Amino acid sequence: MKEKPAIGIDLGTTNSCVALAQGNRPEVIPNRSGSRITPSFFAVGASGEVLIGHPAKRQGITNPRNTIHGVKRLVGRKFSSPEVQDEIKNLPYQLLAGPNDETRIQIGNEIYSPEEISAFILKEMRKIASEFLGAEVREAVVTVPAFFTDAQRQGTRNAGRIAGLDILRIINEPTAAALAYSMGRRQEETIAVYDWGGGTFDISTLVIGPGVVEVLSTYGDSHLGGEDIDNTLVQFLLGEFQDIHQADISGDPLARQRLKEAAEKAKVELSERMESKILLPFLATGAKGPQHLEINLHRNDLEEMSVHLVRRTIDICAESLALASLKAEEIDHVILVGGQSRMPMVRRELEKFFGKPPVRGVNPDEVVALGAAIQAQVLQTGGEGILLLDLVPRSLGIATYGGHFSSLIKRGTRIPTSTDHTFTTPNDNQTAVEINLLQGESAKAAENELLGKFILSGIEPAPRGVPRVEVKVAVDADGIVRVEARDQASGRSRSLTVTSAHGLTEEDIARMAKTSDRLGLADKKG
Ligand code: AMP
Repeated sequence: MKEKPAIGIDLGTTNSCVALAQGNRPEVIPNRSGSRITPSFFAVGASGEVLIGHPAKRQGITNPRNTIHGVKRLVGRKFSSPEVQDEIKNLPYQLLAGPNDETRIQIGNEIYSPEEISAFILKEMRKIASEFLGAEVREAVVTVPAFFTDAQRQGTRNAGRIAGLDILRIINEPTAAALAYSMGRRQEETIAVYDWGGGTFDISTLVIGPGVVEVLSTYGDSHLGGEDIDNTLVQFLLGEFQDIHQADISGDPLARQRLKEAAEKAKVELSERMESKILLPFLATGAKGPQHLEINLHRNDLEEMSVHLVRRTIDICAESLALASLKAEEIDHVILVGGQSRMPMVRRELEKFFGKPPVRGVNPDEVVALGAAIQAQVLQTGGEGILLLDLVPRSLGIATYGGHFSSLIKRGTRIPTSTDHTFTTPNDNQTAVEINLLQGESAKAAENELLGKFILSGIEPAPRGVPRVEVKVAVDADGIVRVEARDQASGRSRSLTVTSAHGLTEEDIARMAKTSDRLGLADKKG
C-alpha cells in the first residue's frame, strides 16, 4: 500500500460516499456497518453525545430539533437569502442569522455554522477510510455540484480544513462521474451527466476520450433536489390529515419529521413498485384521542405531484445543450447520477428528450466518489492521468458606473484562467474606487451575486477618464476566484480572494448600484 493514500469524497446532501483508487481500480470503502454510503446526518443525542451517519439518522424521528440533515443546502448561503428562507419552512431544526447575516444552526445551547456540520461529515468519511486502510488519511479530493457558487465552494473547502483534511482539489460532481465512466472506454463520446441528488440538480455535457474529459457546458439549480419532492409529498399528506381530522399539524416538528421520513420512504418505494402504503399511527392527539394517518399512494399520484419538478430538470437540460451548441441527438450517452435520478419518471422524460434511454450499469450513488478517487490518485502521485478540462459555470466581472455589470470572464471559459481589463474613473479627482466582484449573467450589477468587494484608495487626483485602474480576475483549478486592482499611476494595488460568503448582506447588493456611482468605475475606452 502507498504510504499516503488519498481518497475521493462525494459529500452529498443526503448521503456521502468515500472511495479509494489504487492501481487501476477505484473502489468504494464501506463504513463500519458495511454500508457503502453514509447518511449526511449529524445529531447531538439526549446525553450530549455526537452522532454521525446512520446512528444520527436513526434517532432523527425522536430527536428532530437536534438532528441536522441537508446542510449542504445551507453552506455558503446567507441567512436572508430566498433559498435559506424557503428551507426554514421545512426544517425541524433551528436556523438563525449570525452578526453578518451568516446562516447558523442552533443545537441546544450551541451554535454551529453549516461548514462545521459538513466538517463533521467529512471527518467521518475520513475516519471510515483511515480505519479501512489502517493508516491515517489526510489527503482528499472532494466533489461539489458543478453549479455551486464561489461561496459554496469556499464553504466546502473550509469544511475540509475544519475536518483536518488536506483538500487536493475540489472537482465538480458531473466531471467526477464522467471521469469514472470514461475509465476503460476507448472511443471519443459526447455524454450528458444528469445529476439529481437530495438537494441539487445539475446537467453537464462533456466529451470523453482516451486521456481526456472535457466539459462543454454545465447548468443547474443548486436548490432543486429530491427533498423538494419529499416536501411536496409532505404538503399533500398534511392536507390529507387536515381533511380526515380537521386538524393542522404543520407546526408540530415531531409530526413533520415523521411525515417527512414516511414521504421519502414512500417516494423511494414507488421507484420499484406501483403502490406504497403510508401508515403513521399516533401522529397527533385530538379531543377524541389519538389521530392516525393511513394512505395508499399510487405511483401516478406521486408523478402528478412532482411532474413540475421533473420537467424543470428537463428545461435545464435543454439550456445546457444550448450553451454547448449541441442538439439532443448529438449526445451519445446519458449518465445518471444522484439518488433522485432513480425515479422512473426521470428515465421516461429523459428518453423522450434525448431520444435514447439513459445508460444502465452505472451506480448513481457511487460513481461520483469513484471519479473523485481517480482524480485524488492522479494528483497525489503526480503521475500520468486523465486531463480534466473544466469550466467557469457563471460569468465573473465587476460593477461599473451606473450599476452596470462588466463581465470579465464569460461562463464556459476553461479553468484555470485569468484576465486583465483596464478601467478608469467616472468622476473628476476621484481618489478611490470600489471593486465589487460579481458572478452572474445579468447586465445589471444588482441582479448578479456579490462575491466580495474592496476599496482601492490613493489614486492620484486627475480628471475623469485619465486614471488607469487595472483589474485582474483569476479562477484557479478549484474554481475559486481572486480579484486584484492596481492603479497604474501610483502603483497601489489591493486584492481579494473570496474566502467566504460571510460578512456581506443582501442590502450590500442593493446598495451597490448607488455606491458604484460615487465610487464607481467606467470602462476605459482605448
Ligand atoms: P443523493 O444526494 O445523491 O444521495 O440523493 C439522495 C436523494 O435521492 C434523496 O432525495 C432520496 O430520497 C433520493 N432517492 C434515493 N433513492 C431513490 C429511489 N430509489 N427513487 C427515488 N429517489 C431516491
